[in-house]
Amino acid sequence: MSDLSKEDQRNLALARQFEQQSRNLEPDEDRRRELLHHVNEYTHRFLNAVQEQPGFTETEDLGAELEHYPIGETSHNIQSLLGLYERCVDHPGSHPTSPAHLAYIPATSNFYSALGDYLAAVSNRYSGTFFAGPGAVRMENRVLEWLRDLVGLPSGAEGNLTSGGSIANLTAIVTARESHGLEPATLNRHTIYLSEHTHHSVAKALHLAGLGTVTQRLIPVDANNRMMTQALRKQIAADLKQGCSPWMVAATAGTTNLGSIDPLAEIAAIAQDFGLWFHVDAAYGGFFLLSDLVRDRFAGIEQADSVILDPHKSLFIPFGTGAVLVRDGHKLRRAHQHTADYMQDAIGDEAIGDPADLGPELTRHFRALRIWMPLMLLGTQPFAASLSEKIVLSRYAYSRLSRTEQIEVGPSPDLSIFVFRYRPRQGDIDQFNRRLVDAMKRDGRVFFSSTVVDGQFMVRFPLLSFRTHTETVDKAIDLTLQTAHALEEAAACTT
Ligand SMILES: *Cc1c(COP(=O)(O)O)cnc(C)c1O
Repeated sequence: MSDLSKEDQRNLALARQFEQQSRNLEPDEDRRRELLHHVNEYTHRFLNAVQEQPGFTETEDLGAELEHYPIGETSHNIQSLLGLYERCVDHPGSHPTSPAHLAYIPATSNFYSALGDYLAAVSNRYSGTFFAGPGAVRMENRVLEWLRDLVGLPSGAEGNLTSGGSIANLTAIVTARESHGLEPATLNRHTIYLSEHTHHSVAKALHLAGLGTVTQRLIPVDANNRMMTQALRKQIAADLKQGCSPWMVAATAGTTNLGSIDPLAEIAAIAQDFGLWFHVDAAYGGFFLLSDLVRDRFAGIEQADSVILDPHKSLFIPFGTGAVLVRDGHKLRRAHQHTADYMQDAIGDEAIGDPADLGPELTRHFRALRIWMPLMLLGTQPFAASLSEKIVLSRYAYSRLSRTEQIEVGPSPDLSIFVFRYRPRQGDIDQFNRRLVDAMKRDGRVFFSSTVVDGQFMVRFPLLSFRTHTETVDKAIDLTLQTAHALEEAAACTT
C-alpha cells in the first residue's frame, strides 16, 4: 500500500478508531439475547397484568423524572432504562391497553402487531416505492385491497396507509380539491357540507389544504345525531340559487362524540344529484363493517368518492395507523404524484404503482406489516367477534343504565358509544356530573370522559377495546353508581 499518501494513512487510522465505537451500534447475538430477555420479561409482566390495569393513573410528578436523564454521551443499562420507562411512561396518565379505558375512542394495541412492528424495525424494508420494496408494497396493497373490499369500493379504487385519520382526511380533501379544480380566487364560492359532529380534523385538513375560506355549511342533525338529509338537500338548493358551487359533503360513519352514523345511502344519492364529492369519515366506525350485527347501517358507504378508516381504533392496531381509500385511484395519484431527478432509477411497475405517489409521505413506517401480521395469523373472525361483542355489550350497558333510577341516557347507540348523566336529588346537574367524572378519574379503576350535548354535560360510555368484556362493563356501571351515591351523600352532609 505504498501509494497511500500521508493524508490517506491518517484518514484510514482515524476511520479505524471511529469504527471501534461505531460497532457498538451492532450488538452481537449474546447481547441481543440479553436485551431481548429483559424486554420480554417486561412485556410478559405488562401483559400478564393488563386485564387488571386501571383506566387512568394520577401521579404527582407526571413522569418528570425523565427530565433528570438528558440525552448525551452517557450510556445506561437496559434494566435501568426499562425501570425509568415503567415509572415515567407506562405509569402516569391514561392506559389505552386497559379494558377499563372507557374514554374518548378507546384505542388499544395487540401483541401480534407488536411482532410485526418488531420485524419491520429490524429489517427496515422501504415501503415508499415498489422498486425498493416490492414485497413490502405488495403487502401494503393486499391490506388496502382487503379494506377496499370491506368498504365495497370497485377495483379501480386505490388507497394509502397513513399515520392516522387526520392525515387520511387531509389526503382525501386534497384529492377532492384537485378533482374539482378549486381555484384560490373563488374558494368562498365553493361549499362543503358537514354536521356539528364532523370530526375537527376535517376543518383542520381544509385549513392545511389551503381551503380555509371554503364556505362550511353545518347541516342540522336529528334526535339520533345523524345528518338531516332534507336539510342538506335544501341547503344545497339554496346555495345553488345564490350562485355558490357545492363541492363536497363529508358524512361520518360513527361520530367520535356519540357514535352516530349519518344516513350514507341518502347522502350518496344527494351527492350524485348535485355532483358533489362524497366523503365518508369512518375513522372510528369503519371496522364495524366486519360485524353482521350492524353492517347494514353502513349501506351507501360503497358509493363514496373517498373513505377513511383508522386501523389504530376499531382494528386494535398500535397508534400511527390510518387509511384512506379513493374510488377513482387516478384522482388520488394525480393529486399526489411528484418526481425528482434523484428518483430517476426508482422506476417500478406501472401496474402496481408506488405508495409514495398516493399520499403525502415518501419514506414512511412500513405500516402494512403490523396490520397484515395479526389478520393473517388469526384470520378476520376474532376481530369481527370482538366488534360484535362491543355492539351487544353497548346495548346491554345502555339498557341497564336506562333502567337505573336517577340515570338519564341519550339516544340508543348506533354502534358502541352512548351518553348518560346522573340526576342528583338536589343541586346543579352539570356540576354534579363534572364532579362524578373527576372522582372516577382520580379513582382510576374506570376511566370515563365527558362531552356536551345540547348544552348539557354528559358522561360518554364508549366500548372499543378487544379486552373489554362483560365484567368490565358491569364494574363500570357499579362503580359509577357507587361514586355518584357517595358524592350525593357527601353533598348532603355539607348542605
Ligand atoms: C379519531 C378520528 C379522526 C382523527 O383520526 P386520528 O387518527 O386521531 O388522526 C377523524 N375522524 C373521526 C371520526 C375520528 O374518530
